[in-house]
Amino acid sequence: MAQTTETRKGQSCTQAKSMYTNIRHTTQLFGIILAVLLLGLGIYYFNILFVIAALATALFAGRVFCGWICPNGAWLDHVIRRISPNRKMPGFLTSPWFGYGFTVVFLAIFIYLRIFVTDAPWTWTIPIGMMAVQMTIGTIVGAMYYPRGFCAHVCPWGVLGKLLGRTAPYQMQIQGNCKSCRTCAATCPLGGILDDAIDRVKETGRPETLSTNCMRCMNCAGACPANAIRFGPAEVQANGAEEISEPAKAARLREKATAES
Ligand code: SF4
Ligand code: SF4
Repeated sequence: MAQTTETRKGQSCTQAKSMYTNIRHTTQLFGIILAVLLLGLGIYYFNILFVIAALATALFAGRVFCGWICPNGAWLDHVIRRISPNRKMPGFLTSPWFGYGFTVVFLAIFIYLRIFVTDAPWTWTIPIGMMAVQMTIGTIVGAMYYPRGFCAHVCPWGVLGKLLGRTAPYQMQIQGNCKSCRTCAATCPLGGILDDAIDRVKETGRPETLSTNCMRCMNCAGACPANAIRFGPAEVQANGAEEISEPAKAARLREKATAES
């Protein structure tokens, strides 16, 4: 009987995983086709439109654009992944200050070129040039460390998306029914996002919102055998009584009793 249950869990897991993965691959393909189409129509600033879309969606749902549409992300996921050694990045590259510094320099160069270099015959190439720089650095980082290393720590739009996504009403959360098995952690393309949250859920039994670095790829949700990871309205999930596990309820009662005594 136990074996049957495990098999069912395994099947639903695989189905969920392939469902999310298939949809995401389709939307990534849509992002590439849209970029090529806009470029073909001579809309050379198309990537500025993409950046606006990435930041606008981050305000409501975090880095969803990075995981589901960004053509650079698709390139790293589908091509660079095949040659990446999947190594940890050195500490200085993963420091938030490196990401902030790179973002400031990147934006300063872009703004300078747009404002002060207006009469050069090559000004139309500036937006494409910025995208080429991002793709080149993303490729180097992916080929040296891990595929989405650039997205996790360096990409200026990712850095801004993290800041804007802090108060987004829609978040990824681990629910109180997490079993701490860490199956999800191995599926995350952005490294150790899940570990801390799993530890906190284990400690408190309460739902935990994942780091703002999360790009909502849903790999973890598809892999979780307990169906404990969800994307949705943060407050509703955090306050939903049905999301709180029995051990957590018991822990809360103990806390309350201790506080009252
Ligand atoms: S969220 Fe799911 S996969 Fe991750 S540790 Fe908890 S039970 Fe395991
Ligand atoms: S935490 Fe989950 S949804 Fe977020 S990037 Fe990692 S695997 Fe994807």
